[in-house]
Amino acid sequence: MLDFKGKNVLVTGSTRGIGKAIALSFAKHGANVIITGREKSAAEVLAKNIENEFGVKAFGINLDLSGDIESPFKEIVDWSGGKIDVLVNNAGITKDTLFIRMKQEDWDSVINTNLTGTFKITQSVAKLMIKQRYGRIINISSIIGFIGNVGQVNYATTKAGLIGFTKSLAKELASRNITVNAVAPGFIETDMTANLPADIVESYLKQIPLGRFGKPEDVANVVLFLASDMASYITGETIHVNGGMF
Ligand code: NAD
Repeated sequence: MLDFKGKNVLVTGSTRGIGKAIALSFAKHGANVIITGREKSAAEVLAKNIENEFGVKAFGINLDLSGDIESPFKEIVDWSGGKIDVLVNNAGITKDTLFIRMKQEDWDSVINTNLTGTFKITQSVAKLMIKQRYGRIINISSIIGFIGNVGQVNYATTKAGLIGFTKSLAKELASRNITVNAVAPGFIETDMTANLPADIVESYLKQIPLGRFGKPEDVANVVLFLASDMASYITGETIHVNGGMF
């Protein structure tokens, strides 16, 4: 049931962290993958390595979701023949600061990448999925969208927003055999959490019943499940991957 042979999977922000783990996992299970991020060479190198290691097709391209995506998206369509079966909206940024000191640029940049960027790429991909009457869209939200966090009003707003986005889009696209779901990770070991002060890490660990931060693969496993035939009757849903924290 976890066989993605012949499927084309686009993962945004897949040059490192959770996105990279998701792309590697899909490739391991036979999918052709499109690696995107803000670093062209990192995307190209990873795509080459994936082709060598897993014998699938892989395409690496610079796709900055905070800018104009038209031209990179055209390249993706050319490469994939316009067939994208799975879209994982993973790219996301933080710009942490207390709300009272938050500059509008801190607000705008997080909204632009995490929400507006997701809107743009999803609309482009959904047009292809509607034509082929098949698709799986998986949005990476966050526990912070559910419980909030000091210094992350901008980020929490986007991650909560992705839940409304997921539920509404699921209803719009269901009749076209396209499911739309979300995964809400807790604290996962990536660059995003690498520089947390030790006392903060300790206080989070006390709140996680399973007693550890998650690994990117813990998130990837759930994404693959949602993209698989095992999840064909699930849409508009959010699955939490947080060690029991929420
Ligand atoms: P990361 O910082 O390690 O990687 C982020 C990826 O997104 C990178 O590949 C980067 O190039 C890409 N990216 C950033 N801005 C972009 C833009 N404008 N256009 C295109 N790509 C862009 O982060 P991560 O920890 O792997 O997080 C991945 C996703 O998971 C994010 O949406 C994040 O909010 C979410 N998340 C992470 C955690 C965690 O604890 N690490 C927890 C909950 C949710």
